[in-house]
Amino acid sequence: MKKIGIFGGTFDPPHNGHLLMANEVLYQAELDEIWFMPNQIPPHKQKEDFTDSFHRVEMLKRAIGSNPNFKLELAEMEREGPSYTFDTIRLLKERQPDDKLFFIIGADMIEFLPKWYKLDELLTLIQFIGVRRPGFHIETPYPLLFADVPEFDVSSTMLRERLKAKKPTQYLMPDKVKQYIEENGLYES
Ligand code: ATP
Repeated sequence: MKKIGIFGGTFDPPHNGHLLMANEVLYQAELDEIWFMPNQIPPHKQKEDFTDSFHRVEMLKRAIGSNPNFKLELAEMEREGPSYTFDTIRLLKERQPDDKLFFIIGADMIEFLPKWYKLDELLTLIQFIGVRRPGFHIETPYPLLFADVPEFDVSSTMLRERLKAKKPTQYLMPDKVKQYIEENGLYES
């Protein structure tokens, strides 16, 4: 039996905040693997400069590439349109019946948990791990585990702006991701 942490996001682009957070959760919750799971971006959230799923996956591959405990999970990319977490987790449970699955969520998402589709059933399938972040209050009636992650306040939004303005991104994202972005002319306008 493996302990697997599922880490969903848009990863547009992936950055060192994602990697740092994932690695801390791996260590603190004593997991065996973290599965990075890129989401489809809901049509109403797509901006003009929204990055194609193909490129988001390629960037993520480069971001996690050298870490044997980090894997890519494409369940939500293989389906059309955005998925409910409940449906995705049910699918993953079927594929990994012997493993214990954890679902990693940032502090910013914890207050929205009551609105999640089939949350009570989801809680029977998977253990949530909430990641504390300064500035976010996490009080919840749900049985979450928690991890404390050192603060590293970088976001994909900040990096998209930096890249567009041709400002430095070194130490904020992996060099291989930056190289891929340059080769493919992403985030230029
Ligand atoms: P955007 O700026 O486009 O909204 P983002 O940087 O928040 O993107 P996502 O791909 O949406 O990145 O994030 C996926 C998950 O990673 C979320 O649960 C979020 O809380 C967490 N996360 C993102 N950046 C950090 C960070 N710097 N430190 C800790 N957790 C982070």
